Amino acid sequence: MTTDIPAFDFQIKFIKYIQWLLESGSYTSTYKFALLMSLVNVAIESGIHGNETLFISYEHLAEQYIKLYWKQSLPYTHNHSSNEETAFILSQNTGRQAAIINSIVELQAKQANINKAKVHHTQEWQALKKSVAQTIRKYPAKFLQTPENIERTFLYHYDDKNNKGVLLNQGIAYCLAHFSHIIFKLCQQYWTDFVRSNKHNHLVFDQDTDLRHFLFGQSRQALSSLLPMLIDIQDCQCFYCGRPLSKDMEVDHFIPWSKYPNDTAHNFVLADRRCNNARRDYLADIPFYERWLHRNSIYHQEINSFAIGKGFVANYNKTKKISEWAYNLAIENGDLVWQPPKQLEIISKAMPSLSL
Ligand SMILES: [Zn+2]
Repeated sequence: MTTDIPAFDFQIKFIKYIQWLLESGSYTSTYKFALLMSLVNVAIESGIHGNETLFISYEHLAEQYIKLYWKQSLPYTHNHSSNEETAFILSQNTGRQAAIINSIVELQAKQANINKAKVHHTQEWQALKKSVAQTIRKYPAKFLQTPENIERTFLYHYDDKNNKGVLLNQGIAYCLAHFSHIIFKLCQQYWTDFVRSNKHNHLVFDQDTDLRHFLFGQSRQALSSLLPMLIDIQDCQCFYCGRPLSKDMEVDHFIPWSKYPNDTAHNFVLADRRCNNARRDYLADIPFYERWLHRNSIYHQEINSFAIGKGFVANYNKTKKISEWAYNLAIENGDLVWQPPKQLEIISKAMPSLSL
């Protein structure tokens, strides 16, 4: 594996390009933002640390799209001043509703939990993935880089005849993963503004509403269903300080939600409220990362089978890749990391051995 990273002037060019992409062109749906966010997620999960190109299939992107739009396809509940409640599905397109939303709603009618839908409605899930993949190929992937009909191929080359996927150019996956926070925040903002200003949604936004949280906030999936398994593998002790857990235990995202907003089962640990509150959005110090890797290497099967049964996503290797990305980035930036009870210090330079 090459360890060369993209030159700094290339990285600046990348950021300028993203800025241009988000600002330019008229768009009629939120697909463009979903595509950028999906590319970022796939780049992070690929574990690429250097200049390599990266092939991404449309089906892989489709899974990311479904994840992004799933929550947004559920009815949005609006409280009127008269205390009446209405619920309706937000429009993601200035014309007719976005095709992807319609297909997702159909499957949601059978199963509202995305992970259960994937496991228990395999055929419908595959069909949904295929149709979303085709939509991505025909619209956002084709038009993302050509808002003014100027052919641009900075991120990837789009080939009309290739129906499998897109090939990210050298250095692009690296930049997507390294500038993920900026890209996520910007996309979420543009996306929220689009939904809010879409005339089809005007009725609901006659007052301030926490739309962004509805669109991108943490899913309401009850983490408490994981308690029995986590209590068991942690001997009912706080993951960080080791004190016996009592009623104040909380399920904690080891890689904080603010860094990677996805619920994956191997990411969860159990902490007492004191540690959970003190840690906030900081990464835990390297020794805890080692402890977490060690725990997952021992218990990954148990976590898998238990969490999938409760309707969570579980993918040990992917979660490990995400953690490597988060810690590598923190080391590069010299970020602060936390250790109990309240200590913050600059992260040490060495990653733990990942051979665990
Ligand atoms: Zn603790």
